[in-house]
Amino acid sequence: MCGRASGRVLQRHSGRVLCDKCFREDLVTRFRNEVARYGMITPSDRVLLALSGGKDSFVLLDIVKDIHDVSKVGIVTVVEGVEGYNRVDDVAWIVEASRNYGIDLHLTSFKEFTGYSLDEIVSLDRLRKLETSPCTYCGVLRRRIINYHARTLGYDKVVTAHNLDDEVQTYLMNLLRGDEGRLIQNHPLSSTLSRYFIKRVKPLRKIYEWETSAYAFMRGFKFQEAECPYIRFRPTLRAVLRDYLYEVERSKPGSLLRVLEAIDSYIEKELLKKASNLVELPQCSVCGSPTAYGRSVCVLCDLLSKIGVNSRLPF
Ligand code: SF4
Ligand code: ZN
Repeated sequence: MCGRASGRVLQRHSGRVLCDKCFREDLVTRFRNEVARYGMITPSDRVLLALSGGKDSFVLLDIVKDIHDVSKVGIVTVVEGVEGYNRVDDVAWIVEASRNYGIDLHLTSFKEFTGYSLDEIVSLDRLRKLETSPCTYCGVLRRRIINYHARTLGYDKVVTAHNLDDEVQTYLMNLLRGDEGRLIQNHPLSSTLSRYFIKRVKPLRKIYEWETSAYAFMRGFKFQEAECPYIRFRPTLRAVLRDYLYEVERSKPGSLLRVLEAIDSYIEKELLKKASNLVELPQCSVCGSPTAYGRSVCVLCDLLSKIGVNSRLPF
């Protein structure tokens, strides 16, 4: 691109070879374009970055701190509490970065919020022979805790670090399940279905996972070695789709981007209008949190009551 430095990154979807600087600039430009295209972050927005501590979190923070007023940025990090997967060490860089940039950090855990770590929740589940996937508890709880912080602390948006690979997998999962409601909810222009939900935005959604890895590597990010031991309980459909999509991308570079854009455009043309007529979600009769249409008790209360844990958690 610059014609000066020697190329280091082959960006197969664009057919270009870029030097470090041009690669980083290209990634930041695409991030900014996505933010502007969908009005994801406006100058007055107070934004809460949901950071797990991985490479995508690193890239998200690295870019947001440069493009947004840091006095309007906060971070929430939720430690699950899984033995051998010591997230307290993994998130040390977030603690340091938030201090360096003067960003508010809300460091919390499943234990702090529910009284139980994820390991303890899984033991209670196994004791009752329920065999629920740990990832189900993990996902539902993490979303609840992040939204609770955003709502009670007055943030306008929750910003997550999902990348292009994550987003295409999610779109395809929802298509294969025929879940139109969730398909629409993943589009950046969809509105939240409850006044208690803070809008979630994903500015990395058009950046490939290999690109966030390369960016993080170039910026000196120390990659985590430990993997969550519950990873084998992750939904198999996502794992199958991930492998399949890698194959497709390998033989036809740019496929993931094209799939995402095609589904985005289909939702914009055909589905968004339909979704705007939806009424507000009902509230859970136990904790008061918004719950799915037709449900009187939310998924979290349902899950926790089955393992004998007090489910009247704040929402
Ligand atoms: Fe949570 Fe499952 Fe991911 Fe582990 S693998 S952090 S349990 S979602
Ligand atoms: Zn509930």
